[in-house]
Amino acid sequence: MNHNKTGNVFDIQRYTLNDGPGIRTEIFLQGCHLKCLWCHSPDSQAINGELAWFPLLCVGTKKCGACLGVCKAGAISEGRTIYSKITKEEITLPQLDRSKCKKCGLCAKNCYSSALYYTCKSMSVDALMEIIRKDTKYYESSGGGVTISGGEPLVQADFAAEILKECKKLNLHTALDTSGYVPWANYEKVLPYVDLYLYDFKSMFSEISEVLIGKPNGLILDNARKLAGMGKKMQIRYPMIPGLNDQLENIHETAHFCLELGSSITKIQLLPYHKLGIAKYERIGREYQIGHLDTLPPGKVNEYREIFTKYGLETMIG
Ligand code: SF4
Ligand code: SF4
Repeated sequence: MNHNKTGNVFDIQRYTLNDGPGIRTEIFLQGCHLKCLWCHSPDSQAINGELAWFPLLCVGTKKCGACLGVCKAGAISEGRTIYSKITKEEITLPQLDRSKCKKCGLCAKNCYSSALYYTCKSMSVDALMEIIRKDTKYYESSGGGVTISGGEPLVQADFAAEILKECKKLNLHTALDTSGYVPWANYEKVLPYVDLYLYDFKSMFSEISEVLIGKPNGLILDNARKLAGMGKKMQIRYPMIPGLNDQLENIHETAHFCLELGSSITKIQLLPYHKLGIAKYERIGREYQIGHLDTLPPGKVNEYREIFTKYGLETMIG
């Protein structure tokens, strides 16, 4: 067993409550094969992370300028002058040319104010377990545990398996938050160590799936059938995006498919569309394509929930 195995970690959150039962520590691994239009963590998609730029935190090239000298690719130069609400004076910002950036991360390492930052870091299984162990008493008292999320955590399946294996040695409840879009061989690596799969269904219609997430849904549905065939417990997550995948036809098809998967399905978790990730697109220089959409009114979400309830499926919102 390799406790020193390292992987790319996007984020770590302690005391989370929505991604599995009880109080949990959630480890977010970098990398995902999908490009969901509403993704609220676009900076988690690339396996090696992204250079993010948050100009509000910059103190200016005259006071600092640490990023200017380090970029060997010539991607950073002096840019525009603005009034800074933080330093309360005019400052000159650096200008980032992403077409030249080689993602070496040097500028972020030198930026003490984190105006330039890298979205992932390499961590060992040991280092993660040290963090996970800190909250054992909360897991025990609340029936919680550890959730491995992403990105898509099974893009780094070997690393995810090592973390989950260590968690099971401590008798912790484990959940895996997965998009379903990875080869079955990746699931085989973690099967013995996962108590609950948080599994996304985004569209039951493959041609719509291609538009919404950039891939057809065949692999996602096949993997779900295989997990259910093995009696694995699955909490289905349905991100409800108004006008894109909340058609009644899709809701009924999702319910039918859940019934087909039988007692493996513990719950349907409806995730109403929100816009919390928009700022992240700007920080990594990408465009958010569905900013024109409104959020779903609560009445509508309850109406959709009622449909699942009528099929005899347990539901939760959020
Ligand atoms: S990540 Fe590296 S290549 Fe990109 S801007 Fe920073 S220093 Fe330059
Ligand atoms: S290193 Fe950071 S704070 Fe300093 S000028 Fe560059 S972006 Fe601004």
